[in-house]
Amino acid sequence: GQDLRIARIASAIRVIPNFPKPGIMFQDITTLLLDTKAFKDTIDLFVERYKDKAISVVAGIEARGFIFGPPIALAIGAKFVPMRKPNKLPGAVISEEYSLEYGTDKMEMHVGAVEAGERALVIDDLIATGGTLCAAIRLLERVGVEVVECACVIELPELKGRERLGNKPLFVLVNAA
Ligand code: AMP
Repeated sequence: GQDLRIARIASAIRVIPNFPKPGIMFQDITTLLLDTKAFKDTIDLFVERYKDKAISVVAGIEARGFIFGPPIALAIGAKFVPMRKPNKLPGAVISEEYSLEYGTDKMEMHVGAVEAGERALVIDDLIATGGTLCAAIRLLERVGVEVVECACVIELPELKGRERLGNKPLFVLVNAA
């Protein structure tokens, strides 16, 4: 059943304390990718949820949204659009700034990758404060795309990122401390 799949996914995620800096419990999904069943279950759970929701675009956030997004996009018949760190995309971009713990960062998307009226799923590996997903939502909504839902493999509920998303639905597979 679903709970067995979730349990297997949760146990395939490795936690590395104090990476990349002291105090951070890094949720490492590379071990999930090594477990062929847990990786497939991860993709299947998202595909089961989104296959009949008329999603036309899966927007994946750099870098680990590029791992989970494309197989979901292929399975549900949607296109994949990368949401990248600054100065990575070669064509004309639109960008959105967002705040980090110290300073700001930027997210970029190619002009013309999406059209007004499209229905998007935004995917990343993990939601912490929610700042990254919020920037992706703003970027897509600025060009008239409807963000149907955000999806992550892991949520850190203590950081209350879900509240920062307001009324935008968020679907996650695993809660972590
Ligand atoms: P946030 O914008 O605070 O929600 O942070 C989410 C982004 O930072 C995602 O792209 C995650 O991959 C990354 N991230 C934040 N905290 C962690 C963590 N504890 N383990 C792994 N990735 C993290």
